[in-house]
Amino acid sequence: KLDIFEKIARTIGADIQAHTVHAVDHVSFSIHDGEVVGLVGESGCGKSTLGRLGCGLHTPTEGTVRYRGLPLETHSGIRRPIQLIFQDPFASLNPRMRVLDIVGEAPRVHGLIDRAEVSDYVANLLKQVGLDPTYMQRYPHQFSGGQRARIGIARALAVKPEFLVCDEAVAALDVSIQAQVLNLFMDLRDDLGLTYMFISHDLGVVRHLSNRVVVMYLGRVAEIAPTEELFAEPNHPYTQALLQEIPRIDRTHRTFVPIRGEIPSPLAPPSGCHFHPRCPSATARCAQEVPMLREISPGRLSACHLNDPIA
Ligand code: SF4
Ligand code: MG
Repeated sequence: KLDIFEKIARTIGADIQAHTVHAVDHVSFSIHDGEVVGLVGESGCGKSTLGRLGCGLHTPTEGTVRYRGLPLETHSGIRRPIQLIFQDPFASLNPRMRVLDIVGEAPRVHGLIDRAEVSDYVANLLKQVGLDPTYMQRYPHQFSGGQRARIGIARALAVKPEFLVCDEAVAALDVSIQAQVLNLFMDLRDDLGLTYMFISHDLGVVRHLSNRVVVMYLGRVAEIAPTEELFAEPNHPYTQALLQEIPRIDRTHRTFVPIRGEIPSPLAPPSGCHFHPRCPSATARCAQEVPMLREISPGRLSACHLNDPIA
């Protein structure tokens, strides 16, 4: 989106700087080994951008993404342990390639295996994701959505990642299939010691999977909390509003109903606390001053003036 915006700005001779969209702004947090961190928020809040920054697919204009303490961009080889799993695996599976090549190509190119080992290697990966190894001779169109999701996971696992960023990885699947694929993610975490950042607009999915949740609103972090604490006692008014929508979620329509008011454009975010035009607790200060993300209890952070004693 940013690239397109830049192109348009160049075409019309506009000042790109003046039109910079801060898709992610002043976001800082750590993910620990073996953790599953859920990243939630409405569409356009910067979740996917943050996921792509985490994988090294985007480079931040300011600040640093570190992996095991080292800046990501100075270690191109380090990107292999970080893999991104997309929402729609079909769009990223080459229709003319057999599963054998889709899954086997990257580890061969990276020198993890040689040509003679590819078939056995892919067979093992397919078993690991719950697919029949003989499927490796087939093409993507011969599979169901759930099977394609598993192929996408096998492809990511093929380069021996340590950290998976899953961006709406089950959103395109039927609910019953979603549950199976989510269980596969959890089994893989236990078996392979994986760490996840699980990006989803679906709070049910995030609650099921995550140890910790990061709530984003218009490019900023609103709240970070251990999952059960967040759901039991949300601190930030935005989180509270999100959770209030949960009872309306039924099995066929699991996306949450938007909170009152429209999501403001990221091109012109509201002043002060970005959430103030929609916040039931907003005061005059909220329109003027950006609330800092501060620790409200051990392991819990929230960016709301209500937590500030001088408010
Ligand atoms: Fe609401 Fe103000 Fe808190 Fe923002 S800082 S969430 S507007 S109370
Ligand atoms: Mg997205």
